[in-house]
Amino acid sequence: MTHDAYRIEILREQYEDSFESAQEHRSEGRKQAAARAYADAAETLAKLDEASDSDRAHQVQRLERAAEILERGEDLEDHFKRNQEPAGGSGPSAGGGGPPPGGGDEDGEEMRAQMESFIAETSTTWQDIGGLDDVQHDMKRAVALGSIADKPDAVTGTERILLFGPPGTGKTLLASAVAGSLDATFFKIELGNLLSKWYGESSKQISALFETAAELSPSVVFVDEVDSLAGSRDGDMNETSRRVLDTLLAELDGVEKGSDDFVLTLAATNTPWHLDSAIRSRFPKRIHVPLPDVDAATEIIRIHTVHGGVGFDGHPSAFVDDPQQARGADTPERAIAKRCVDHGYTGRDMEALCSAAVNNMVTRNNPDLARLVDDSVKRLRSHSLEVGRIQPQDVAHAFATTSPSLPEEDVARFYDWDDEYGSRT
Ligand code: ADP
Repeated sequence: MTHDAYRIEILREQYEDSFESAQEHRSEGRKQAAARAYADAAETLAKLDEASDSDRAHQVQRLERAAEILERGEDLEDHFKRNQEPAGGSGPSAGGGGPPPGGGDEDGEEMRAQMESFIAETSTTWQDIGGLDDVQHDMKRAVALGSIADKPDAVTGTERILLFGPPGTGKTLLASAVAGSLDATFFKIELGNLLSKWYGESSKQISALFETAAELSPSVVFVDEVDSLAGSRDGDMNETSRRVLDTLLAELDGVEKGSDDFVLTLAATNTPWHLDSAIRSRFPKRIHVPLPDVDAATEIIRIHTVHGGVGFDGHPSAFVDDPQQARGADTPERAIAKRCVDHGYTGRDMEALCSAAVNNMVTRNNPDLARLVDDSVKRLRSHSLEVGRIQPQDVAHAFATTSPSLPEEDVARFYDWDDEYGSRT
């Protein structure tokens, strides 16, 4: 490690220590000690900024303001509650004293436009999710607690949740459903993408993103591929990633949040074992989103067939490849679900399977479909498609052309990580 990298590492550790002790003093009502620790954290963060050539001035300001308020013997939450009431209505952003993004100048406008591109439309509801009942329950509970403003100090909500599990198991779907159910502004970023596309600018983007999210509260910020910031502790991380990591940590620590702001940060990873430990510690709630069991798989299959207007035709036993799978299966969906679970299919694999089966049914019922294009594309608009039911041969063919995407040995790794770091309610 070079001298500079070493100094940055030490400063980062000092910042972490001061911040954590500030939070602890504050939660235990020791205002003066908390004020001193916030002031230390501000000073260290300013030094860290200088050493790593990054710009977290607004976070330094937040920490300094928190220190001042506590030093006067005031309570941070009370202070913001009071200051939100006067005219203006929207209240301070998570940046508090910092300027809101897009404060009129051109750079700001550009940044604002960029932020808006992170806003995703979502009409997803909980009904679009098959299974994952425990996960849904945990998330709804966390959201409910986080959203209720009027609660004793000792009752704290979780505003940061980490979802981990194999790819294609519904993590993005869950985040969309949370945002949809709260009617919240939904920000979606893929960290890997952000890092490669906005090289050098990424950390500014992260700060602006969180400020905008607070402005447009209630918001859900979904940070996908949070493991892209791996390896920081080994010193093999490049400067951009390091800066982004620092900024993300600082934003997650945002102390000076208006009491009316509700920003739920959901992060997702397919490789939790690569997570930076500082990131891991910022997400006290870590929820395993596993491969579907038979009940969940049955629902997922229904969502992608029956709920879309296409049912099945045939005895359940005709849809399996092993007679064992037909035992206790009272519907074709359940028989197919058992087969999927036996083969380790993810939700996404099942969606692909259903789509292939539906396609096979359509081809079987409309053998002349391609020729119609040659005849007259215009006439196609009024052509009525023959839609039948999915039959065993459609499913057999779909199984032959799709396969599980996850090697079996990887599944155990998620359970091991869950045992060590996952949270239970
Ligand atoms: P992840 O974020 O875990 O990689 P996604 O949420 O993007 O996975 O899921 C990919 C697709 O797979 C979804 O759009 C959906 O069609 C399907 N899918 C995955 N899990 C489920 C589920 N539990 N219920 C319904 N569909 C699912």
